[in-house]
Amino acid sequence: MADYDVIIIGAGAAGLAAASTLARAGRTVALVEARDRIGGRVYTIHPPGATLPIELGADFVHGRPEETFALATEAGLRLYEQTGNSWAAREGNLLSDDDDDDEADDDDEANDEGDVGAIFAAIHTWQGEDRTLQSLLDERFAGERWAAARARIRGFAEGFDAAEVNRVSVAWLRQTELASDAIDGDRQFRVLDGYNRVLAWLSDTLGPSTDLRLETIAREVRWQRGHVEIQMESPAGAPLGEISARAALITVPLAVLKRSFDDPESPGALRLLPEPPGKREALSYLEMGHAMKVVLLFKEIFWDALPQARRANRQLIALPRLSFLFSNDPVMATWWTPHPVVAPMLTGWAAGPRAARLATMTSEEIADEAVAALSRALDIGRSDLDALLTGRFIHNWSADPFSSGGYSYVCAGGLSAPGALAEPVDETLFFAGEATDTQGETGTVHAALQTGYRAAAEIARALGSTGAS
Ligand SMILES: Cc1cc2nc3c(=O)[nH]c(=O)nc-3n(C[C@H](O)[C@H](O)[C@H](O)COP(=O)(O)OP(=O)(O)OC[C@H]3O[C@@H](n4cnc5c(N)ncnc54)[C@H](O)[C@@H]3O)c2cc1C
Repeated sequence: MADYDVIIIGAGAAGLAAASTLARAGRTVALVEARDRIGGRVYTIHPPGATLPIELGADFVHGRPEETFALATEAGLRLYEQTGNSWAAREGNLLSDDDDDDEADDDDEANDEGDVGAIFAAIHTWQGEDRTLQSLLDERFAGERWAAARARIRGFAEGFDAAEVNRVSVAWLRQTELASDAIDGDRQFRVLDGYNRVLAWLSDTLGPSTDLRLETIAREVRWQRGHVEIQMESPAGAPLGEISARAALITVPLAVLKRSFDDPESPGALRLLPEPPGKREALSYLEMGHAMKVVLLFKEIFWDALPQARRANRQLIALPRLSFLFSNDPVMATWWTPHPVVAPMLTGWAAGPRAARLATMTSEEIADEAVAALSRALDIGRSDLDALLTGRFIHNWSADPFSSGGYSYVCAGGLSAPGALAEPVDETLFFAGEATDTQGETGTVHAALQTGYRAAAEIARALGSTGAS
C-alpha cells in the first residue's frame, strides 16, 4: 500500500499545475520541494523601499498564453502590457526607435532591418535538414554584406533563447517563432502584483489531499512498474526518510535532470534506480542556457529627467517613456524599465554566453558588472550612477544547485527530444517542466504550466487504468 497516489518532485510552475489538477481530481499527492518556497524559477521579492515587486526569475508573460491569462483571471491578478520606446546605445550615442534626423543612419538601419528580416524569414520557412543557427548563417548569409544582420540574429538567439548559436537548432527556432506568432508573442505583459502570485494561486487550490513538503530534497527515486519510493533529505543533508506512491512526476530543471544521469551524487541531483530508459539520448539534444538578471533601484527616474540626460546624436536629451535599452555591451547588453508603470527601476539582462561568463562570479561581482555596463551604455560616470542607486538585486540561477542555469533550448537534430523526454515510463515515472515542452514554448512559464497539465492528464489515465491505491 503506497503512502500517496503521486509524488511530484519540484514545486515550480509545472509541479504546481500538475499538483493542483490531481488534487482537484481527488488524488493524494506529495509535493516535494528542495527550497524553502514554492515557485522555482518564478521568484518574486518585496524588499522594503521597493514600490514594485522585484522579479528575480521570470519577469514577462510572453504574448497572450491561455494558461497564464486564465490563472491570472481566476486569481483576480492584474496584468499590464509593457509599452514605451526602445532605445539603442551605439558608440556613445543614444538613438530612439523613431529617430529620423539622420538620413544616412536611417538608410543603414533600413538595410539592417531588411537583412535581419531576410534571416528571420529563412528561419521561419526552414524546411531542410536541421542544422545549427551558425551553420545557417555560414551557408546562406556569409560575408561582410550580412555582418550586421548576423550579429543581430546572434544577439537574438543568445539574448532571448539563452542559446549558443553553434548548438541551437534552426528547426526548433522555427517552431518557437511560429508558436510565438500564434499568441502575439511580440507583446509582453507583466503581473503587477508579482509573478509569484500566479503560482501562489495554484498552491492555494491544493487542499488537504496534498502534502507540500518544503526544504525537502528528493535524493533517490527507486521505481518499478506501479510503485515508487523516494528517499529525502534536508538542505543540511539530514535524512528525512522515505515516502512511496503509485507514480512519480519529475519536474526538476533540465540541468538538474542531466546531472541525475551524469553525476547523481552532485547537489540537487536525483539517483534514479534503475535509470529510466530512453531519456539519455533525449537529454543529449537539450541544453540549459544561462540567464542573468540584475534589478537596480534608483532614487529617481533619472533617464526621464533632463538635467541628468545623456547624449543622442551628440545633443543632450532625455529618454522619455523608456521601455527597452539595447547596447552592444560585452557584459550586459539589454535593459528594461517597468513602463508604463512608473518606478525608478532598471533591469539588466544577459543570457547565453554573456551570462555563462558572469555565472562563475559572486552576486556582488555580477551586480557590480551590471552597474558598470549601465554606466557605459548611458555614458554616465560610475560615481554619478552609484550616487543614484538605492538597491541591487540578483539571484545567480546558474550557481543554484536546484536550477543550474536559466532555461533550456533544443540543439540541432533534437526537435523530437523534448517529446522523448516527456514520454512516461511504464505508467509509473512521468516528466514535466519547461524542457519537456513540445509546442515551441520552451523556456517559459506558460510552457511549464502546460507540461504540468499534460502530465497530470497522463497520470490520471495511468492511475485510472490500474485502479485505486
Ligand atoms: C532569470 C530568468 C528569467 C526568466 N524570464 C522569464 C520570463 O520573462 N518569462 C517566462 O515565461 N519565463 C522566464 N523564465 C523561464 C521560467 O522561469 C521557467 O521556464 C519556468 O519557471 C520553469 O518552471 P518549471 O516548473 O519547469 O521549473 P522550476 O520552476 O525550476 O521548478 C522546478 C523545481 O524543482 C525543485 N527541485 C530541483 N531539484 C530538486 C530536488 N532534488 N528535490 C526537490 N525539488 C527539487 C526546484 O527547487 C524548483 O522549485 C526565466 C527564467 C530565469 C532563470
